[in-house]
Formats: sequence, structure tokens, C-alpha cells
Amino acid sequence: MKSIIFLGAPASGKGTHSSLLAENLGYIQISTGNLLREISTQNTELGQKIKNIIASGELVDDESVLSLLKNKLNDIAGKPFILDGFPRNLNQTKQLSVILDDLKVEYIVIYFNIDEDLCRKRITGRITCPCGKSYNMTTKFLPKKEGICDSCGQSLQKREDDNEEAFNKRFALYIKNTEPIIDYYQKENKLVVIDANTTETRSCEDIYQEIIEVINDKY
Ligand code: AMP
Repeated sequence: MKSIIFLGAPASGKGTHSSLLAENLGYIQISTGNLLREISTQNTELGQKIKNIIASGELVDDESVLSLLKNKLNDIAGKPFILDGFPRNLNQTKQLSVILDDLKVEYIVIYFNIDEDLCRKRITGRITCPCGKSYNMTTKFLPKKEGICDSCGQSLQKREDDNEEAFNKRFALYIKNTEPIIDYYQKENKLVVIDANTTETRSCEDIYQEIIEVINDKY
């Protein structure tokens, strides 16, 4: 199996689909947001610093995130993975290419193309589990038992940055930084674009099936 990089706006579905692919096909899900949130719960200076950055919707510095990612890639020892939330800018993209080339990792990049208004709507209703799975109070993605994760049984929480103000910051940063990343992967011939908008006639399951087709095509 090739590894996969998911690119897309906050709440475009990267986390949901990487969880599903991890469950169904055995990929290792690597979310830099989750790794950083874990550190942000530690009662240390670094933990507090990262907590504040995440809550504001800004990005954590490249060096810290890269170091976390390198450790994680070492831990998973060559198993196929899905990267969700990394890279976030061109510097991270270039550094990631070097790391993955060194590790001889083969990968494709899937870009979740989605409308801003839909992401905003999802963010306001989203509740998440520390395990990475998310649910939504405004759609049918509700947990079976209120406030409890179906997958791992932990309590669901509202993320500190899932509010209108932080979303606007995160989305603006995403727009500013993503175009060069897309250009980069297009030139490398690694990019596949999918329509990540769910509508009355296009369900999350439809999008999942398209991702599966992309993955099968690219093996
Ligand atoms: P996410 O869970 O991917 O939405 O990320 C939540 C927050 O973690 C982001 O708004 C950033 O503050 C931080 N973060 C996650 N991934 C990165 C990254 N690759 N580079 C810098 N900051 C990141």
C-alpha cells in the first residue's frame, strides 16, 4: 500500500476519512493536530505555549512540528500511513519530501476541495474525541451514546479552536499557504483532487468510495 497525504481546509473531512481508512484498511493515521493537542495537555511551558497557539488558530513553528513528525514516522517503522494536517506550508512540504525520499516511502496526495461555508458550518457543530474521531451536532454524524465516542468510549469535547473567530484565522492561513503546496505536488505528478462537498445527493460514503477508487487506481 502506498502512503497518503491528505490536504484540505479545516473540517473538509480529512480526519473522518483517515479514521475510516485506518479502521478499514489498516493505515496508520498521523494527525499533527492530534500530536500537538496531546502535548498541549501537558503541564509544561511547551504544553501551554502550544495550547495558546492552537486556540488562536495560528500555526505552530515548523521545527517543532517536523521533529514530532519525524519521531512518529520512526515509531511506525515503515507501515503505510495517512498524513492529516501536514504539510501546512511550502517549507514543510519541501522538508517532508526529503524525509519521505530518505525513508523510501511511496505516496500520493489527495486534495479535498470544499466550499468555505460548508467548513464553517461543520466547525460550529463539531465535537471531537481525543482519539481523533469527530461527530457533528448539526448533521447525522452523532455518536450512538450522547457525549461518548463510538470507537473508544472516551468523552467527546468541543475543540478550543472550533469557533467562528479561530476558524476564520485558520481558513485564511489555509488559503494563503495551500496554493503553493498544490502547485508543488501537481508538478511532482502526485496530486489527485476530490470534490469534498457533501450535499443532498452526495454523501460522506460517496466521497469515501471515491477515495477508495483513487487509492486502488494508484497502486
Ligand atoms: P488540525 O487538527 O489539523 O486542525 O490542527 C489544529 C492546530 O494544530 C492548527 O490550527 C495548528 O495550530 C496546529 N497544527 C497542526 N498541524 C500543524 C502543522 N503541520 N504545522 C503547524 N501547526 C499545525
